[in-house]
Amino acid sequence: MTEPLVERMREFGETVFAEMSALAVRTGAINLGQGFPDSDGPTRMLETAVDTIRAGECQYPPGPGIPELRAAVAAQRLGRYGLEYDPATEVFVTVGATEGVAASVLALAGPGDEVIVFEPYYDSYAATIALAGAERRAVTLRPVEGRFTFDPDELRAAVTSRTRLILVNSPHNPAGTVFTRSELEEIAAVCREHDLTAVTDEVYEYLTFDGTEHIPLATLDRMRERTVTVSSAGKTFSVTGWKTGWVTAPAPYIRAVQTVKQFLTFATSAPYQRAVAYALGNEIPWVEELRASLQAKRDRLITGLESAGFTTYRPQGTYFVQADIRPLGFTGGMELARALPGKAGVVAIPTQVFYDHPEAGAHFLRFAFCKKDEVIDEAVARLSRLR
Ligand code: PMP
Ligand code: GLN
Repeated sequence: MTEPLVERMREFGETVFAEMSALAVRTGAINLGQGFPDSDGPTRMLETAVDTIRAGECQYPPGPGIPELRAAVAAQRLGRYGLEYDPATEVFVTVGATEGVAASVLALAGPGDEVIVFEPYYDSYAATIALAGAERRAVTLRPVEGRFTFDPDELRAAVTSRTRLILVNSPHNPAGTVFTRSELEEIAAVCREHDLTAVTDEVYEYLTFDGTEHIPLATLDRMRERTVTVSSAGKTFSVTGWKTGWVTAPAPYIRAVQTVKQFLTFATSAPYQRAVAYALGNEIPWVEELRASLQAKRDRLITGLESAGFTTYRPQGTYFVQADIRPLGFTGGMELARALPGKAGVVAIPTQVFYDHPEAGAHFLRFAFCKKDEVIDEAVARLSRLR
């Protein structure tokens, strides 16, 4: 049979997360690959979703999202960052951040346009840019003094007359970098000089460590007017399966995103919206505890990976650690990831799949630490067999 898949999607097979989670299930290995927590979100939030279904709220909600969630998102942006958005026209609910990013890219870039991404990039960005018929230009994040960052000259060199968008993910998956104000200033300056729109993915906005501050790009000088911000409930409230996200931006951008989203999914699941609205208003103390517990888990995993022989990079945010495999005598992350269940009974993500220049990331594995302490300890004990 001839390949039925359209040409522009052929470079995208099964996602690495699906492949590696299936490998974990098949082999019984501990899954530190796909990033999902193994504990529940706040109880009242879970009950709110159940109560909402029992109360019969089961038909289509409004396409832009229920008013309560849009109001809660607007209150969160204002209270936490001082950013004002009109809940009626500047806040829009999506099926997770994935759809928020996809609808934004599909609405704002098309054939002939270029989109700048920072590699290693979250995998959906590349596929979404391809769906839009646009082209991606990757700027590489490289370790400098223990932290992944970019060279501002490389960012400037990536801009062409065809550049339309820059996709910014901070806290950054999979590098763990939380962009500093001065890094964000470099990005903002490029956006202003070249009249680019920024789409920011802030799904890990609460999950930062050691007092590191998450700074939304939209808070920088003259950036609110050209920034489309995406976030979601999955990571903040440990409900990655709920797929409830949102976009905040000036009204013309929201109208553009809405035009696309209404034909992708039309609306977003109603009961979860009500539960997330409740959580944004009431469960931030719970999130603060989650953050503190993740910081301890980060340190626990790093200590273990280092004693197993990896060199690690301590993330300032997210729940992922980058580990350099070369001190253990390995060079190919993809090969090692596929062999790891057999060698050590653990699954990790080969970071190289997130690069256009895979040589820059061939020697890294990404390990997730959003897991119970005993799971991390057992994984580390198994990995120490690699020596
Ligand atoms: N962006 C990044 C950087 C992610 O790590 C993830 C995974 N949670 C997503 C987007 C997808 O978020 P959601 O599940 O809300 O679609
Ligand atoms: N965001 C999660 C990760 O990076 C996975 C999401 C997915 O499976 N698409 O591991």
